[in-house]
Amino acid sequence: MVKQMEETRAASAEHCDVLIVGAGISGVGGAYFLRQQCPDINFVILDAEETFGGTWWTHRFPGIRSDSDLYTFGYSFKPWVGPPIATAEEILSYMDEVIEENDLARYIRYRHKVLKAHWSEEDSLWTIMAVRGDTGETVRFTCCFLWMCQGYYRHYEGYTPDWQGMDDFKGVIGHPENWPEDLNYDGKNVLVIGSGATAATVIPAMAATAAHVTMLQRSPTYFRSGRNEIEISETLRELGIEETWIHEITRQKILFDQSAFVERCFEEPEKVKQELIGQVREQLDPDYDVDKHFNPAYPPWRQRLAFVPDGDVFQGINAGKASVVTDHIDRFTEKGVLLQSGQELEADIIVTATGFNMNIMGDIDFAINGKPLNFHDTITYRGMMFTGVPNMAWVFGYFRASWTLRSELIADFVCRLLNHMKKTGAKSVEPALRAQDKDMPLFDWIDEDDFNPNYLKRAISILPRRGDKREWRHTQDYWREKNEFPAIDLEDEVFVYRLGARSTAAAD
Ligand SMILES: Cc1cc2nc3c(=O)[nH]c(=O)nc-3n(C[C@H](O)[C@H](O)[C@H](O)COP(=O)(O)OP(=O)(O)OC[C@H]3O[C@@H](n4cnc5c(N)ncnc54)[C@H](O)[C@@H]3O)c2cc1C
Repeated sequence: MVKQMEETRAASAEHCDVLIVGAGISGVGGAYFLRQQCPDINFVILDAEETFGGTWWTHRFPGIRSDSDLYTFGYSFKPWVGPPIATAEEILSYMDEVIEENDLARYIRYRHKVLKAHWSEEDSLWTIMAVRGDTGETVRFTCCFLWMCQGYYRHYEGYTPDWQGMDDFKGVIGHPENWPEDLNYDGKNVLVIGSGATAATVIPAMAATAAHVTMLQRSPTYFRSGRNEIEISETLRELGIEETWIHEITRQKILFDQSAFVERCFEEPEKVKQELIGQVREQLDPDYDVDKHFNPAYPPWRQRLAFVPDGDVFQGINAGKASVVTDHIDRFTEKGVLLQSGQELEADIIVTATGFNMNIMGDIDFAINGKPLNFHDTITYRGMMFTGVPNMAWVFGYFRASWTLRSELIADFVCRLLNHMKKTGAKSVEPALRAQDKDMPLFDWIDEDDFNPNYLKRAISILPRRGDKREWRHTQDYWREKNEFPAIDLEDEVFVYRLGARSTAAAD
């Protein structure tokens, strides 16, 4: 197959300097950076969907909204002017403006699902094979540099545990990633399995018209709540300050506060835990069993901490429209689920808000010089490049801060790297262990003591590995990376450049 792709390449492939996979918030942001910082580079974005937005386009469950603020989830270069927690529709409309204002639509090819990406050292090119969703036609591209902005999970295949008896259930089972379009839940009893950010979103939205919504969790999660506004931005707006200023000042204020909070989560976890649980207690009726349902077993911020605007989940509980059950499922039944405690929860609709199925690089079949590539055999360079994989960058954002903060740091780095290669005439670059790294111990991609959601744990065997030095780790530390990434020395011996036939540690 590799040979066949190589043979047909010259005849039928369209060539570009850079090919971006994905027109979500990362890919569109990447395109903006390319236009600004590398105006001579020609590029194409391919996306399997019929439009831009990624996550915000493919998810259709009731109430879908961000769980981090849009001042930092939005781009640094485009002011966010709405409430900090935004609906998918508001995020799509913001992205639409970014595309329009920066003339990015002409670079995007929708309905192009990338299936293969094969690197050939001989001509320093990637050959990309995609299939068109509209015509079914197979199309080929060649590119010098591949920029993977494909997100981190399968958009149409959420994770659902295989519970016994699921086929016996007579009602409807829906996963937030495959929301049944015509699902009417007015006056129905809904059971939501899970207690993460998605459950916290879907529960108040459905509780508005459902008869009752029950959240069933194996174990409690942390929530933060507050008003859906940022005081400083409201004050600045009242003072008539320009939106670009408000955006930047608000971003810096949020980042400053978050940094202090994350630091406290690691330095005094017990104190922060009690504060978070105390906030929940304040919002629920005095006799509510907070210790049973909202007292997590892990320290704060080891899993994503969902923000609940205006405490809407808790309001639903106080109003009797929603409730929480903490127990384990024994099996599904005709009427609902039987719990290990012996209680049966009846429902018309069961929503399995049980998480993602991670995928690595959009499930694309990668090969390097004819050899299939298994990313678990590679070591990550700062969570954005991989040993043995030339001319490729991968965007994986933050969990403890907004995703986009990291996608922009990577975008700036990629543009610097591309400009450097152009200036030096380098045809390819890949990170490689230096002499001082050779005996470095290697570990799984994520440090479980640092961040350990289940979907990451399930994917460890397919994720790249890491070392014990900062260069060889994928950190969650925006506050250090924001200074480190722009200062990365492109001539460091970690970067192995190829200038045609010759290979050098750093192109000069
Ligand atoms: C419900 C939900 C809420 C979230 N809320 C937040 C939040 O508030 N804050 C936060 O920081 N993060 C949040 N996240 C995480 C979120 O996914 C990211 O922050 C961000 O949207 C990811 O953007 P992206 O562009 O990198 O990837 P995605 O949004 O996943 O977009 C990737 C794009 O690549 C395309 N693609 C993938 N594979 C291929 C292929 N093989 N060929 C062609 N195209 C391909 C997809 O079609 C998609 O359009 C949330 C996630 C979910 C699911």
